[in-house]
Amino acid sequence: MALFELQNLTKTYGTEGIGTEVLHGITFSIERGEFVSIMGPSGSGKSTLLHILGFLDDYTSGEYRFGGKRPNDYTEDEQAQIRNNEMGFVFQAFNLLPKQSVYDNIQLPLSYSGVPEKFWKEKIERAIEQVGLTHRAEYETYKLSGGERQRVAIARALVNDPNVIFADEPTGNLDSVSGGAVMEVFQELHQNLKHTIVLITHERFTAEYAKRIIRIKDGLIEQDEVLAGDRIRRPSEFHK
Ligand code: ADP
Repeated sequence: MALFELQNLTKTYGTEGIGTEVLHGITFSIERGEFVSIMGPSGSGKSTLLHILGFLDDYTSGEYRFGGKRPNDYTEDEQAQIRNNEMGFVFQAFNLLPKQSVYDNIQLPLSYSGVPEKFWKEKIERAIEQVGLTHRAEYETYKLSGGERQRVAIARALVNDPNVIFADEPTGNLDSVSGGAVMEVFQELHQNLKHTIVLITHERFTAEYAKRIIRIKDGLIEQDEVLAGDRIRRPSEFHK
């Protein structure tokens, strides 16, 4: 069973009839362990789609199943639990607490998760290691570079061992070299740790770190393409 299954999904903002339909019938599946980019120009409906996938917003018609179940099969509390325990979110703006340490920022989702406290330290340290920030664990996050902050946000998304990591324009606030380093972290999580990653971007360069690109335009899928070969990009490519 696919982790995500969408069938002819639509989204209308406002009241149906007098509202604006922004997704016009989206159909795709994403399997566990895939690394997929959803790419399209600004206003094409990417964030709307991500919010629906992440149980942050309702859809209007069609079908959406996450792990075989519809969002409406769950109560709001259960949806919140799934968001916290099975989904990790990384946003363009990092959304960290600036005066708190790297360690404390990453601890935050654990405190809502029901994971017994005795396991926290090990989980936090592992997440910090996975993004290569062990030497910065005690730094307050306002002292870090943009690329380092985004890696903290990735560690925070990872700490509950989610089934999927959603990243919404994660390199949007970064220069190309730090952006490349952040994308390499996603690539490693996918290749070595078999994480499922759904990335939203308007940039082709960023999208191509994934193994599959779903292009959307004006609320419709334009192309769904599996990339050939094992492309591994390194920051050195940015300097060419
Ligand atoms: P993208 O992420 O690709 O830039 P969005 O999903 O943010 O696209 O937006 C798609 C369309 O939906 C845009 O025309 C946008 O103005 C509209 N839209 C987004 N959010 C809302 C909202 N809460 N209410 C009404 N319209 C919205």
